[in-house]
Amino acid sequence: MKLRRSTARALAAATALIALGAVTACAEDGAGADPQRVDVAAAFYPLQFIAERIGGDAVRVTNLTKPGAEPHDLELTPRQVGEVNQAELIVYLKGFQPAVDEAVEQNGGDRAFDVAGVQPLLAGSAGGHDHEGEEAGHGGEEKDGGKDPHLWLDPTRLATVGDRLAERLGRADPDRAADYTARAGALRVELETLDAEFAAGLRTCQRRELMVSHAAFGYLTERYQLDQVGITGLAPENEPSPQRLAEVAREAREHQATTIFFETLVSPKVAETIARQVGAKTAVLDPLEGLSADHGGDYLSVMRTNLATLRTALSCS
Ligand SMILES: [Zn+2]
Ligand SMILES: [Zn+2]
Repeated sequence: MKLRRSTARALAAATALIALGAVTACAEDGAGADPQRVDVAAAFYPLQFIAERIGGDAVRVTNLTKPGAEPHDLELTPRQVGEVNQAELIVYLKGFQPAVDEAVEQNGGDRAFDVAGVQPLLAGSAGGHDHEGEEAGHGGEEKDGGKDPHLWLDPTRLATVGDRLAERLGRADPDRAADYTARAGALRVELETLDAEFAAGLRTCQRRELMVSHAAFGYLTERYQLDQVGITGLAPENEPSPQRLAEVAREAREHQATTIFFETLVSPKVAETIARQVGAKTAVLDPLEGLSADHGGDYLSVMRTNLATLRTALSCS
């Protein structure tokens, strides 16, 4: 599997060198790069969201992860590698999407802005959590060793990433630096409002444990003093073992979970199986790795839907 993927990537990179000529020709006849605007390649949705909000009409943002696609294991088409090579600014999260990391490493030069470098990342866990007074190791606790990339699920962190992005855009396009700063400030106000709604809405709840399909919610649970139990670890494609499924079912019973969460971009099958076993419901908790192709909305509206879902599932007053 790994070998097949890296072979495909190497092939894509090689093809891209050929395709680059075509993309350049395309740009010259006006269909590609816009000389009036900063061309930004954003690696996945939340980065597209902040780039569009902060850049406004001064930028042209391309999202490398198409709506409805799951970003963790994104493969770049030769055309997209061409977009990365042509972009004036590449906004990505190092360690999240190996194909994007590779394209940036090969051709990013000084055009890449790594949002993982803005603030120290939290350590990732394989989905387990600790109970007070118990040995670490309960609930399948098994550190991935890696860092948790899902920083956008803490709105205050996303605001800080936005401030740094505005500075970076201002260096790429000094004439409009003040506009970028102003728009980042406006976005910060909206994200801080959202943060206050989460803090108030999740303050008093009967339960604080989230049973989720992949351990994407570490920043959200850290920020609002919740606790996540992930059926899989930091990436959704890891198949959970029968032992892991049994552990999560035990956790769900122990914490009297009424809801097992699944995601829009990942199959709900495993969550449904556990829910049936423990007599719980399932509901969508969206990690915002991408917008679903049919639902639309934006970061703020999907987060507010998440908050309402959480308040119901955790019986918050
Ligand atoms: Zn994820
Ligand atoms: Zn537990």
